[in-house]
Amino acid sequence: MIEIRPNCEHCGKNLPNTSKDAMICSFECTYCVDCAIDVFGNVCPSCTGNFVKRPIRPEAMIAKYPASTKRVYSPKDLRIINKQTEKFKNILPEKR
Ligand SMILES: [Zn+2]
Ligand SMILES: [Zn+2]
Repeated sequence: MIEIRPNCEHCGKNLPNTSKDAMICSFECTYCVDCAIDVFGNVCPSCTGNFVKRPIRPEAMIAKYPASTKRVYSPKDLRIINKQTEKFKNILPEKR
């Protein structure tokens, strides 16, 4: 079961379960689509993996298996991350 985290780790934007803007990597690092794609070039700044759209948990299920309320907020230093992004963004995720 994935953790539905409440916000973008980089910019802090709220990403409730029903948000269509949430992206996750295989480790569930969670970012808004603007950060994941425009800022990080679809290269997760923590693990270098790609992002996919986070699925929305249906109402009945979210009542039974609630979203996480623990905010993870850890803005990245883009001077460092941009070098990593450059290195990986043109490599297919399955080859990284
Ligand atoms: Zn963001
Ligand atoms: Zn990651």
